[in-house]
Order: sequence, then structure tokens, then C-alpha cells
Amino acid sequence: MVDKRLLEVGIEFHGHRCPAMPLGLRCGLAAMRVLGVERSKDKELYVIAETGKDHAAGCFLDGIMTATGCTYGKSNIEKKYYNKMAFTLIDTTTNRKVRVRLKDEFFRKILNSPFVELRKEGVLPQDISEEVSTPLIENVLNMPEENFLEIGEIYEVVVPKSKGCFESVLCASCGERVFTNATVKTDKGEICKGCHEKLRK
Ligand SMILES: [Zn+2]
Ligand SMILES: [Zn+2]
Repeated sequence: MVDKRLLEVGIEFHGHRCPAMPLGLRCGLAAMRVLGVERSKDKELYVIAETGKDHAAGCFLDGIMTATGCTYGKSNIEKKYYNKMAFTLIDTTTNRKVRVRLKDEFFRKILNSPFVELRKEGVLPQDISEEVSTPLIENVLNMPEENFLEIGEIYEVVVPKSKGCFESVLCASCGERVFTNATVKTDKGEICKGCHEKLRK
């Protein structure tokens, strides 16, 4: 179950009250339960999201991020832009993964929800009243998992390990400080990728 605090954290982080974010919370928690893992404090977990942009219910991914602790800042999440309501959760400590997706019929149904109908009319999500959003959110929080979730098998996965970089230099072109694991060596010296991209234009 989604505890109240996690829901509040999710809404605060996400920016508005919608049913897709809590749906992501539930899917993230389900994947974590299947793998028997806790929320990622550092990079123990890794998410490969199959959602994309410019489609309904993309808010789903913010719920997955909130539940799993896989975040852009920690770089333990990537987005494939398949525009599918699915993701894979990887436990990098035991090299196991599971893919979770919305059931096709449920996926079809949410696109006809009163919330999505208003979005189709151009109403911004933050302008949709709680009278509309609250029952939908309550339903997402309470519906049985088998109604909406397809949980795959657990597979083994090879997780490449990388060490964090703690060294920096001044870019020989712009003079700004940059981590050494993203510099390019040129005849002008070691330069940042930003300058390198400009040099190539
Ligand atoms: Zn949303
Ligand atoms: Zn530079």
C-alpha cells in the first residue's frame, strides 16, 4: 500500500494532483516488493523507463521516481521514449531485474477518465478540481493490483559498475571548472564538452 507521507511527497515533488503519479507510486512499490528491495538511498536501484513525452499519463514516471528513489540527479534512471506505460527495475546489488507494465485494457480505460477528458480539452492538470481528481486518486490507491498491473519474471542482469569522479580541472578554453571524466583532450589542452561541441560547430 502507498503510505500517506509518500503520497504527499509525490504530489509536492510532482506539482499537481493527478491519478497518473500515484499510479506510478503503486507500480514502483510493486516492483520493489517483487525484488524485495528498499528505496534507493544511493544507486542500489536503477530504473529503465519506457515512457516518453507528449503523451497522456507521463506523470506516471514521477511516481516511479518518488517510490524507488531512482532520480535524474543520482543518474540511476533512464528514459527510453518508447511511449509505453512500462518500466524495468534493476537491483544492482543482486543483479536482478523485473519489468512492470500497465495491463492493456487498463491503459485504454485511463485514457477515457474524466481527468484525461479535461486534459484533451486543454485544461491544465493543476486547474482540474479535486472533485474530479480525488476519486480517481483514491481508486488508484485502492484498486487490486491484478486489475492494472502486469508483473514480469525476475531475470538476471549484468550491471556495469562505474566509479564516481572526484577530480576537476579548469577548461583550457572557457576557463570554467569541470569534472575530469567529461573533458576532451585537444591540442589547445583539456577542454569541457560544452566548448568541444561549440568547437565542432
Ligand atoms: Zn500529473
Ligand atoms: Zn569550456
